[in-house]
Amino acid sequence: MDDCLFCRIISGEVPSNKVYEDSLCYAFRDINPQAPTHILVIPKQHIESVSDINSENSAVVAHIFEVIAKIAKDEGLTEKGYRVVSNIGEYGQQSVKHLHFHVIGGRQFGWPPG
Ligand code: 5GP
Ligand code: ZN
Repeated sequence: MDDCLFCRIISGEVPSNKVYEDSLCYAFRDINPQAPTHILVIPKQHIESVSDINSENSAVVAHIFEVIAKIAKDEGLTEKGYRVVSNIGEYGQQSVKHLHFHVIGGRQFGWPPG
């Protein structure tokens, strides 16, 4: 999608700090990190949000979670723990309408979220 920021990051039109890439997904560092490690993992296919996951496209989501586990190990997050977050829609405060999973770690988090 031409007007989607994350599709433009995947195509390389918008520069990003790449962490991982394969044929199905792309991972890069968040421009405004909320923790010492803050990585976004996105499908290369344009899916708007978790609400648009279905039996046709869910395999890429399973794959993304394998990739998240690998990235977390590589970034040294696994031992202490970390958080995987996907914001959805208005109440979820999703600002970019291309499915993404925040992988955030390197500090203690609170619960519940604000
Ligand atoms: P959301 O608010 O939709 O859950 O998350 C969008 C995330 O994308 C935010 O954490 C924001 O900092 C990040 N972001 C927005 N624009 C850019 C950009 O141009 N480059 C990178 N690397 N991250 C971005
Ligand atoms: Zn997109």
